[in-house]
Amino acid sequence: MAGIPTSRDAGRFGAFGGRYVPETLVAALEALEAAWNDARADPEFNAELNACLRDFVGRPTAFTAAPRLSALAGGAMIWLKREDLAHTGAHKINNTVGQVLLAKRMGKKRIIAETGAGQHGVATATACARYGLTCEVYMGSEDARRQSLNVFRMKLLGAQVHEVNSGSRTLKDATNEAMRDWMGSVGETHYILGSVVGPHPFPTIVRELQSVIGVECRAQCLEVLGGLPDVVVACVGGGSNAAGIFAPFVTDASVRLIGVEAGGRGDEPGQHAAPLSFGSPGILHGSLSYVLQDPEGQTSNVHSCSAGLDYPGVGPEHAHWKDSGRVTYETVDDREALEAFQTLSRLEGIIPALETAHAISAAIRLAGQLSSDAHLVLNCSGRGDKDVQEAMRLLEARDKNA
Ligand SMILES: *Cc1c(COP(=O)(O)O)cnc(C)c1O
Repeated sequence: MAGIPTSRDAGRFGAFGGRYVPETLVAALEALEAAWNDARADPEFNAELNACLRDFVGRPTAFTAAPRLSALAGGAMIWLKREDLAHTGAHKINNTVGQVLLAKRMGKKRIIAETGAGQHGVATATACARYGLTCEVYMGSEDARRQSLNVFRMKLLGAQVHEVNSGSRTLKDATNEAMRDWMGSVGETHYILGSVVGPHPFPTIVRELQSVIGVECRAQCLEVLGGLPDVVVACVGGGSNAAGIFAPFVTDASVRLIGVEAGGRGDEPGQHAAPLSFGSPGILHGSLSYVLQDPEGQTSNVHSCSAGLDYPGVGPEHAHWKDSGRVTYETVDDREALEAFQTLSRLEGIIPALETAHAISAAIRLAGQLSSDAHLVLNCSGRGDKDVQEAMRLLEARDKNA
């Protein structure tokens, strides 16, 4: 009711965010928020997390000049923040080790997670194996079929994989199932959400854990460039790698922040996965943000060549950054991403994830509009080993149609 504060008012980014969940989860989310605030203030927790990030994840990750990519773009110098070098090959591990340590501290012995392509499931199973927690991962049966190697990886790491047969049998349905599990098991179970989405406090916890990317990167810029960069570019699925690199730069007004969504096959509904570019405010998975939906509020189908960007929602803080004008969001389509995937491989010896390739394409475009004394930082969110087979299929299809 208007004027009366409710738990829905917790964790707002402007009008976005909040906590749109069944009553049974409110107490659990409040306990999680309290435990997180307590952990963040405890030097012992921070020391354990930092040691894990250094010794297990391999941080700090490198900050690498990309001279041949810069020459191609013909403008700003492009720099890469190398999350592809983190353990398991992407930024997702920063979040999962942090939440596993938090779960341990809360005395929870069982971890559940949702996964789409399987990358978050693998990162969660990895952290659980490292710390000896039980891990169960929900995955749509259609995704499990398409990503059978990741299902095998999770099982190797000791996790149990539950295939979900409802709805479109993809990420959205796996998330619903994980939330349902948590409602019945919250006493002994922690739910590790994979991006800056979901009800409060998840968007804040995940952004704070991923901010290690931006904190390191900002220090590396000051050391290597002698100042702040002009532009920071990152791809946006749920928005965690972007939020992680953007957050420490948000108060630096001189730094332009650019998020890149999946333009897919085109602008028509169902052909892309770009809620900030084409969506409208709505509630998905417990929070208010931009959502791809039809006029009746039914969540739309999405498409992207990269499984990690293939999600109809986005983190609420991005919705706020969009509306306040602090971050600009663009789209890059499948064709452009595939080309950038090849370009970075050939010019810099780094095979990027297809998600990352979206940011690379936008970075080339942007750098070309800037002068040669400008610096552009690109968050290289992950490596492309997981995507080479799909890229081979897409490139063969493209070249046959050419
Ligand atoms: C999962 C993933 C993404 C998308 O997720 P965000 O939460 O938007 O960061 C991007 N890049 C890679 C390599 C991924 O694995």
